[in-house]
Amino acid sequence: EMLRADLCIVGAGISGVACAVTAARLGRQVILIDSAPWVGGQAVGVPIGTIAGLYSAAPPEGSVILSPLFAEEILAQLQERAAAWQMYSRRARTVIVVYDEGELERILEHLLQDAGVTTILGATAFHASREGDRLTAVSLATRFGTLRVEAPYFVDASGDAALTWLAGAACRVAQCPIYGTQIAVLEGVRLSPNDDITAIARRAEDLLRTQAARYGLTRRDSRVFLLPQRQLAVLNATHHPTPLDPVAFWRSVWPARQEAEHAARLLQSEYPEVFGEARLRRLGHPGIRQTRTIVGRYSLTAEDIRHGKRFPDAIARVAWPIELHDTATDYRWEPFSDGHSYTIPFRALQSAELDNVLAIGRCIDADPIALSSARVMGPCIAMGVAAAHAVHLVLQSQASLDRLDMRKLQERLRRNLFDRPQDEQEPSQNVPLKLES
Ligand SMILES: Cc1cc2nc3c(=O)[nH]c(=O)nc-3n(C[C@H](O)[C@H](O)[C@H](O)COP(=O)(O)OP(=O)(O)OC[C@H]3O[C@@H](n4cnc5c(N)ncnc54)[C@H](O)[C@@H]3O)c2cc1C
Repeated sequence: EMLRADLCIVGAGISGVACAVTAARLGRQVILIDSAPWVGGQAVGVPIGTIAGLYSAAPPEGSVILSPLFAEEILAQLQERAAAWQMYSRRARTVIVVYDEGELERILEHLLQDAGVTTILGATAFHASREGDRLTAVSLATRFGTLRVEAPYFVDASGDAALTWLAGAACRVAQCPIYGTQIAVLEGVRLSPNDDITAIARRAEDLLRTQAARYGLTRRDSRVFLLPQRQLAVLNATHHPTPLDPVAFWRSVWPARQEAEHAARLLQSEYPEVFGEARLRRLGHPGIRQTRTIVGRYSLTAEDIRHGKRFPDAIARVAWPIELHDTATDYRWEPFSDGHSYTIPFRALQSAELDNVLAIGRCIDADPIALSSARVMGPCIAMGVAAAHAVHLVLQSQASLDRLDMRKLQERLRRNLFDRPQDEQEPSQNVPLKLES
């Protein structure tokens, strides 16, 4: 079977969904495909636990949303369903949003359906056809047979630069190991919204550190996110390598899944007042942080982000810390000072070799340190929105991505690129703000 669209997006993670819905609302025919049988990618399937990177680095009362486009719709819908818990993280010096992944999945599905996106799940891209500098079609394997999608523009939202790699275009793989995580979700955790959630999370993290060896855990520096309205806990307590080889990948994941079960048992035994009756709801899909990226027209660097670089072709702003998981036992954490942010240039999304392909999300061109900050959900959503507008503009003007009118693109992304005057700012806390110590 053969399908045609204005835009084909490979990867229905948060960046791919943001791109698909935005492009479809602009009147474009969009095909969104994913090898997984759910939408939301890691945000739903792992699940990753919190929406990070949406807000500015500032004291609690001053932290404002940096990238409202599309993200504020998701936040509003999560809040309507009482499925989000907003916190100020003193470690990150910004606001994060803990969410229920089941509700997020439903919200994303509705947004895609309402926008008229043709979404095909369980479809793995296995071949990309190319004519010179242009990608012309992508071939997909599904349980019902193969499918070919032709389009003038493609977006690689696969997290692993899978589309770019299939097209034979240059990619980068980090030279140091960057670990993924097998998350465990516990339900029936004894929590109420009046509890000191921060103190409970801290105590759980302390126990995971001090008792790790007794329970066979490799990682020491674990994170626990609590969703009191749902009596849920998300345990981010393991590290496993994520090689780009199917056999080696799963060999490294199986022991991590066992460790995730041990982490749950540790809390059930060592912290019975809160976790004694908790049950392991699920071990999610193994979480992959950073693997392969495109070679773009610019590679974002650690220096750029530490210096708060403002690019002339900026399409997103980020204030999330450097969070590099490059050791088995813990990770590098480098928060930015209050008021600091940096921008992502459009060129980091543009394939160096393919004229009609943009990358978004975890596989833009960035060095491992820069990517460890830029890959979180806030910037992923902002990149998806930017790519959709860029494709819409070039289809309108029949220009190429290289000749895109950056002024027009930035005008459309104005709310993500510039602060609104103070008196027009909405407070970040649409739900009660809980302070994390
Ligand atoms: C353990 C862990 C914890 C994290 N914690 C946080 C956190 O607390 N807050 C935060 O904001 N971020 C966190 N992150 C980062 C998070 O991964 C990103 O924010 C975001 O989810 C990435 O979105 P994405 O759309 O770029 O990619 P993904 O969500 O990875 O989506 C890519 C999609 O592409 C699909 N795909 C890949 N190859 C193919 C192919 N060949 N054919 C078809 N489909 C394909 C995949 O199935 C997948 O669904 C965490 C990541 C991990 C791994």
